[in-house]
Formats: sequence, C-alpha cells, structure tokens
Amino acid sequence: MTPHESDGLSASAEADPERMLRRAQKAGLFESLRRIYGEFPETTCENCARCCFESPGIFYIEYLHLLDLLAGMTDERRAELVRRAFRELLFSWIEPERTCIFLESGRCTIYDRRPLACRLFGLVPAVDRERAEAEARMAARQEARRLSQFGIEVPEAVIQRSLVSCANVRDARGQSVSIDGEAVAAKMAKLDAALIPQQVVIQEFCFRSLPERLGAASFGEDAIDGLRVQLLRRAQADQPVRELLALVLAQARVPRLEARASCLHQRPARARRRKQ
Ligand code: SF4
Ligand code: SF4
Repeated sequence: MTPHESDGLSASAEADPERMLRRAQKAGLFESLRRIYGEFPETTCENCARCCFESPGIFYIEYLHLLDLLAGMTDERRAELVRRAFRELLFSWIEPERTCIFLESGRCTIYDRRPLACRLFGLVPAVDRERAEAEARMAARQEARRLSQFGIEVPEAVIQRSLVSCANVRDARGQSVSIDGEAVAAKMAKLDAALIPQQVVIQEFCFRSLPERLGAASFGEDAIDGLRVQLLRRAQADQPVRELLALVLAQARVPRLEARASCLHQRPARARRRKQ
C-alpha cells in the first residue's frame, strides 16, 4: 500500500489546484459555468435520491469549482468529505449502500453547485435509457469479473445499483422536459479547454468523479487500482473498512486545501453579494 507520484498524464494529478483556481477565476470561467447552469429549467421530481447512488462524473472546471467549495469549509467538514471520497473511491465495489459524498439524509448538500451530470439527470431523451442502463451494468459486471481474478467478490447489488436516467422529472407545468445534453457538454468542454490540453479534455470529458480526481491528486493516478485491490482483499478478509481507511488517510497526499486561497471566498464581500 505505497502510493506514489503520478507519471503526470492526468490533468487532475498534474495540475496545481491553487494556480488553476486563480486562472479559472481570472478568466471568468466560474461565471461562465454558472451561466451554463443557469440555462436549465426549474424542475420537480419525487426526490427519492436514487440518482445520487454515487458521486457523479465532473468536468475539470467543476472539479475546481468543488475544490473551491471545499477550501471554504471548516477543517472538520472538509476532512469528513475527503474521508467519504476515499471510501467511495476504494471500497464502493463491496459496499452496495454507498452514495454520492454530498448526499445527507436524502438531500444534496451542495445543491447550488451540483455538477452538470446531476442537472441533466432525467432531462435527456428517454429513448436510449434502457440501453444505457444495460451498458452501465455490463461495464460493472466486467469490472466484477476482473476483480474476481484477485479473489474479490462483488455483490450483485453493486452491479445492479447504477441508474442512468429517470422518467419522473417534470417542469413547472408538470410536463416532461428534454435538453440537448451533448450541446451543453460541448460548452463545458470549452471551459475545460481554457485550462487543460484539448487531448486531456477529450480523454477525461466528464467521466471522472470528485473521488477519482482527488484520489489521482493524492495517491498518483497509477497507484489507485493496485491500492483498491489490496484494500478490498483485506476488507473481505474481515479487516474493518474503518481501520483500512484510517491507514489510507495517513498516507494520502491530499491537496492542502486548507492552506489554499479560495478564489470565490476571497472576493470582497460586496462583489460576492453582487454575484449571488
Ligand atoms: S431524478 Fe428521479 S431518481 Fe433522481 S431524485 Fe428525482 S425521482 Fe429520484
Ligand atoms: S452532487 Fe448532489 S445531486 Fe449530485 S449526485 Fe451528489 S447529492 Fe446528488
């Protein structure tokens, strides 16, 4: 269980978050991000939180937006979220009950900053829903087969938990809503391309979650899979997850967010009020 530095291919592992936060702020990218978020219609649904079964994939600009949020939190709150992130990253293949790290008592605790994937959920046309869910489960089954080669048994409930869309989202008049998700994602990718190489934008797109990006920054991209396999084996050999997680946290080189200048939180109070 020896995390090492990344070879540097991943934007998440490579980038210096403090520098990138300053660049994003200077270029007005967070305002652009909020404008994109603001284009979404108000919707209602049954608030069952089933779609929060894991932390969503996020664009790089959203990663910075969430790091900025973490930087403005108390040390205790931030530590708790980092702990949840590593638990999801490393143990979710054996824990069917895992949810997004920001979900508490069935509610999203970062609703104003929730990522694009959460805003799009249930708004993309339903025609491909069943096929997409089948693909998600097939991918989960493939990973379960790979992990079984290391003696790790993935519960069937983990394979079945993915949910890719929902038919219960309605607009203010109770009508179903549809959004061109590809067009919105293309706008987000443009914001990313202002910060990281186009090749990395295409490679990562929105497929990496906050736990994955934090994990890459803390352990090194190439160390995560080996670390996960070792931990899952030890957990299934009855070593308590809590104990294993404590070992991981002791070794992790988590970005020192508490020491970082949080761009959004450092704006003068008047400017900040105007933005809200
Ligand atoms: S979008 Fe669907 S799955 Fe998500 S909370 Fe609403 S009703 Fe539940
Ligand atoms: S960020 Fe909020 S809305 Fe999105 S998955 Fe997490 S808890 Fe759910």
